[in-house]
Amino acid sequence: MEFSIYNTLTRRKERFEPLDPTRVGLYVCGPTVYGDPHLGHARPAVTFDLLFRYLLHLGYKVRYVRNITDVGHLEHDADEGDDKIAKKARLEQLEPMEVAHYYTERYHRAMEALNVLSPSIEPHASGHIIEQIELIKMILENGYAYESNGSVYFDVRKYDEKYGYGRLSGRNVEDMMTNTRALDGQDDKRSPLDFALWKKASPEHIMHWPSPWSEGFPGWHLECSAMSTKYLGEKFDIHGGGMDLMFPHHDCEIAQSTAACGCDAAKYWMHNNMITINGQKMGKSLGNFITLEELFTGKHKLLTQAYSPMTIRFFVLQAHYRSTLDFSNEALQAAEKGLDRLMKAVDALDKINPAATSTVNPAELEARCTEALNDDLNSPLAIAALFDWVRTINQLAEGTGSITAPDLAQLKEIVHRYVFDILGLRNEKAVAGGNDLMSPLVDMLLEMRQKAKEDKDWALSDKIRDRLTAIGIRVKDGKEGVNWELT
Ligand code: ZN
Repeated sequence: MEFSIYNTLTRRKERFEPLDPTRVGLYVCGPTVYGDPHLGHARPAVTFDLLFRYLLHLGYKVRYVRNITDVGHLEHDADEGDDKIAKKARLEQLEPMEVAHYYTERYHRAMEALNVLSPSIEPHASGHIIEQIELIKMILENGYAYESNGSVYFDVRKYDEKYGYGRLSGRNVEDMMTNTRALDGQDDKRSPLDFALWKKASPEHIMHWPSPWSEGFPGWHLECSAMSTKYLGEKFDIHGGGMDLMFPHHDCEIAQSTAACGCDAAKYWMHNNMITINGQKMGKSLGNFITLEELFTGKHKLLTQAYSPMTIRFFVLQAHYRSTLDFSNEALQAAEKGLDRLMKAVDALDKINPAATSTVNPAELEARCTEALNDDLNSPLAIAALFDWVRTINQLAEGTGSITAPDLAQLKEIVHRYVFDILGLRNEKAVAGGNDLMSPLVDMLLEMRQKAKEDKDWALSDKIRDRLTAIGIRVKDGKEGVNWELT
């Protein structure tokens, strides 16, 4: 079966066929760096990390571009309000680039904790002002923008007549006009739907650059069009982001690249669904805004405990990326337990003794995982297949059923590949254990305890067990011998 993805633009699942059969260009809208990375960042990061890892697994050379928005990015409307980075800089008496750098570092650290791979290129909007100005010139030349009082606006009505505006989100200009307030006469725009490509800076605006039109700054949507074209070409394969970016951001990106180059830039558009918290939308005003650091440390009034980065990652992967995902303590605790079971089964693979015959067929696991992920990255189904095998692995480790040495080697390879390489999970307990020295050391102590038992030195044998328990290592005496695990 071939890899297929749901294309938001055509609203159907399509077989994935990259423009070049061996290479894939992937662009994902990255963070705006004026605040701590939060739960809302985790979902697109993990979703597109899974896509990136899966494309690599399929054998493609992938150029993954994820931008850093560190320029005059305004929450909802490029024409109004305050630039968040500049606002923070003013409040804290910092250079805007100090604010951007500080939060970029925080974002990177959180991504590393979530085991999100670094993209191939991470361009900063502030480093691509020239490219953005060039793009505005092309749009002006093609007649889809106009200059007004030092600012440049995109002419939505004119563009709509030829190409249709709002195709991605399925909006149409007439409806939007009825729902938009009229211009107040102070505005430089011809129509309220027009959006800024370049904005003349007011005297208090501290981030600004020279341009042919004014000392100012680029509009919100422009950087992604300019940087995707620069690094992936006028046409590339996949553009991703959160569903909340579909309109206006991505529809404006489509309009900009079509107005400049005459064609859609991305062949496939992929959007991850949103995260809710106890059924509610996440928002600062609702008091349910949780940063990733608060999740990792448990320091937030809504959290009953800390959740490890891998618990968060596993939780995100347990839902299909196009479904909504609701965060609650109960759901996170269930994810924590599930992940623990999965990691214990991975460890149990090393405890299986090969036999002369196999009662199981590891190729079945591979087929189910491939089928699931090929079907629009259905990670919950792949995880369900792994869990069916968790049961099988535990049975094999207990001596129920049998597996030959080559089959066992194949099973280990498949489990490791899907769990670690593709789903990108990490065994945090193994990491917490420090390094490869721990296992032989614990084994040595358990051998000494065994000897003490044989010598009927119960005091010593109990002491070894109790001291191990005290440092977080649970010793389990079973029929098959002594085992241990981290608690
Ligand atoms: Zn973007």
